[in-house]
Amino acid sequence: MSLLDRSLAAVWHPCTQMKQHETLPLIAIARGEGPWLVAEDGRRYLDAVSSWWVNLFGHCNAHINRRLAEQMEKLEHVILAGFTHEPVVRLSEELSALTGHALGHAFYASDGASATEIALKMSVHYWRNSGRPAKTRFVSLAGSYHGETVGALAVTDIALFREAYAPLVRAAATVASPDARAAEPGESAADVAIHAAAALEAFLAEHHHETAALIVEPLVQCATGMAMYDPEYLRRARTLCDQYEVHLIADEIAVGCGRSGKFFAMEHAAPRSSGEGSGERPSNFWPDFLCISKGISGGYLPLSLVLTTESVYQAFYADEVARGFLHSHSYTGNALACTAALATLEIFRDEQVLAQNLERAAWLARAAAPIAAHPAVRHLRQQGMILAFDVDAAPGFARRFHTAALAQGLLLRPIGNTVYWMPPYVLDEAQCQWLGTATLDALKQSLQA
Ligand SMILES: *Cc1c(COP(=O)(O)O)cnc(C)c1O
Repeated sequence: MSLLDRSLAAVWHPCTQMKQHETLPLIAIARGEGPWLVAEDGRRYLDAVSSWWVNLFGHCNAHINRRLAEQMEKLEHVILAGFTHEPVVRLSEELSALTGHALGHAFYASDGASATEIALKMSVHYWRNSGRPAKTRFVSLAGSYHGETVGALAVTDIALFREAYAPLVRAAATVASPDARAAEPGESAADVAIHAAAALEAFLAEHHHETAALIVEPLVQCATGMAMYDPEYLRRARTLCDQYEVHLIADEIAVGCGRSGKFFAMEHAAPRSSGEGSGERPSNFWPDFLCISKGISGGYLPLSLVLTTESVYQAFYADEVARGFLHSHSYTGNALACTAALATLEIFRDEQVLAQNLERAAWLARAAAPIAAHPAVRHLRQQGMILAFDVDAAPGFARRFHTAALAQGLLLRPIGNTVYWMPPYVLDEAQCQWLGTATLDALKQSLQA
């Protein structure tokens, strides 16, 4: 039996109707080289989705490899209850510093959905510890995605992922998304954000007594199809959450780690003139909880974490055990995963990645210009290192496009009729150009079919 047949027999693949593999072949990858995946049959694919948005600095990155090899000689893992170790301490300190110490406490898990659930549980437990036990409900944006465990599905508003499990899920309320595509003629993205914030205010005015937290994907609702919105929404949401005593949870699992153009997407919500140097304190734009996963380990090892504030931390700090946050996962704070994350942060610093990505994002924009001119293409949009467009096409487009792109040596997985690029931060100008050309070719082919 070939490796592909053995995989189909023994591996139940994620996010897949397995029967489709009767006609869509699996691809067995033998190794990775920077942005390239090299298949067992020798074919090469440009990984333009960063292997589901996790890979930041290419596959088999020499720096991360070296750091992991060094750490492996010292300590691979240790229980984090009652024990600690250098990588988890340093990572927590460095992430705290990246928030200007606004979010100085880090709680660890291994995957994104668990980070979402930790933030939800901490929020409710905070209100309980603060004498507000009625605040147990959540509100999320229409089209939101925060993971697929039963708890995370409560705040995930994507019917395909949720419908079958509806009897298990205590669904959160949803409010209007600030998706800039909803702009009427003459309206700006900021106008849409302001209308959506008004809808949020109406919701909170009525429901704040039982609402623990608002959870958002800052700036880009990725899984629903790269819905992008103006940071004005985040500024207003922060103010409204303060006003109505509701936590703000920023799920930066996809948009964190430089993807949005800044290290944390919430930084786009900072007031434009923050009074730097004048001794004036900028008004707070940080969330109460910030969830990170995916890119934080450079795409190497499962790692997620929730950063939170001193005031949340203090609400749990007490003599009674039950007031503490008793949540745990076996691999909490894994030393190798934290080491991969530290190596990732070193690359950000040593190679000035955010500055480099400004130029890289401009290359992507230039490479996409001929695509924007195609008559079937709508709403070409970009936020930092995410570029997306919608396609007017017959049903089945996503699969036709995916197949046509693979034939070009390009890994892209449209979400419905939305094609997006979310490449690792290593593409050079020629590779960006090629990405544009190959995408346009795949688009033309998939529209002919
Ligand atoms: C991927 C993702 C999650 C879930 O992370 P997993 O590691 O897949 O559980 C949650 N929120 C957002 C915004 C994501 O993109």
